[in-house]
Amino acid sequence: MDVILTINAGSSSLKFALHPVSEPMTPVLRGKITGLKRAPEFKLSVPDESRSRFPKIRVDATHETATQLLLDWLDAQDTDHKIVAVGHRVVHGGETFTKPALIDETVLVKLAALTPLAPLHQPHNLAPIRMIAARRPDVSQVACFDTCFHTTQDPLAKLFALPKSYAEQGVIRYGFHGLSYDFIASVLPAKLPTASRVIVAHLGNGASLCAMKGGKSVATTMGFTALDGLVMGRRSGAIDPGVILHLVQQRGMSVPEIETLLYQKSGLLGISGISNAMQELEASDHPDAALAIDLFCYRAAGEIAKLIPALGGLDALVFTAGIGENSALTRAKICARLGWLGLSLDESANQANDEVISSTQSALPVMVIPTTEDAVIAKSAIALM
Ligand code: ADP
Repeated sequence: MDVILTINAGSSSLKFALHPVSEPMTPVLRGKITGLKRAPEFKLSVPDESRSRFPKIRVDATHETATQLLLDWLDAQDTDHKIVAVGHRVVHGGETFTKPALIDETVLVKLAALTPLAPLHQPHNLAPIRMIAARRPDVSQVACFDTCFHTTQDPLAKLFALPKSYAEQGVIRYGFHGLSYDFIASVLPAKLPTASRVIVAHLGNGASLCAMKGGKSVATTMGFTALDGLVMGRRSGAIDPGVILHLVQQRGMSVPEIETLLYQKSGLLGISGISNAMQELEASDHPDAALAIDLFCYRAAGEIAKLIPALGGLDALVFTAGIGENSALTRAKICARLGWLGLSLDESANQANDEVISSTQSALPVMVIPTTEDAVIAKSAIALM
């Protein structure tokens, strides 16, 4: 059977899936290698008993060596799966890429040139591409960008109030999580046929919101980088830029120290001092765990409200990703702060993570829709093969 291998390389993980080329494209294999460069672990979420054990992963394994192990392991399986293309999640397409791209040497050079816009993510995305290009030059590779979905944003939503020359040089709000939003936009017409103005809350370790009109992004909370907007697992989200000046001028902090502070030590972890994981904070009775959850929800509700003018109203609210799909507490706390919109939840539906969690009295539907980025990547790869 011809299959598409999808690869989603995060900062310390490599998620992968095998999707059949023809409908139904339900994955025959899905898994991830987590803890790269720390404590690597291989896990399958769509397991197949017939598969052999994954080889031992060295503690210092990188995205490149993990990809190599994965290819070798897939080759060694006794199945009729034939990888005919590989689709990759690539975090930044800049202004150059407004749709998925078939990768060749020229494209690869352009993608590498975008590294300064996402120095912590783009190199991890490119490492598996280079590895596969060297090992399997016969297999087509396709790059799918997190930024593409947001190219439709209102021009005002993309602009910082800096001198205009900065925007002309690419310092604009790009937005991220586009593959997830693309998937949600693809299922919305069937689930909410009459809703045109929708806010989707992608709440995972990374978290953002997207205001969609007719299934297209008009504004989003992440900006030039994936640091802006909501409180996240380890990232601060939006902060007064004057804080950065203070840290440099008064505290003498270096750029790498500030980068680590904002990307690794802040957010839920920074406030709680306990964990970056919402599930662990919910299980804790420490007051700082509660404080972190409260700040997360306060800020999320505020950012939702801030997006409503971009839509001119709101027809529905959708929660997705790890926290959005599983944390009834987070959804309840966010929605409680939005009661003035006439929005209310059905408590038992919310507790059960049902698809529709709003009450019958609610002025607008609130939904939980699980997202998947690999299905979007696989479809794009097939389209470009
Ligand atoms: P990412 O893909 O950005 O790494 P995920 O979408 O997997 O992140 O989301 C991870 C987050 O979801 C973590 O904060 C985790 O604790 C949270 N989460 C997962 N399951 C639950 C649950 N049952 N209750 C509360 N939070 C959960």
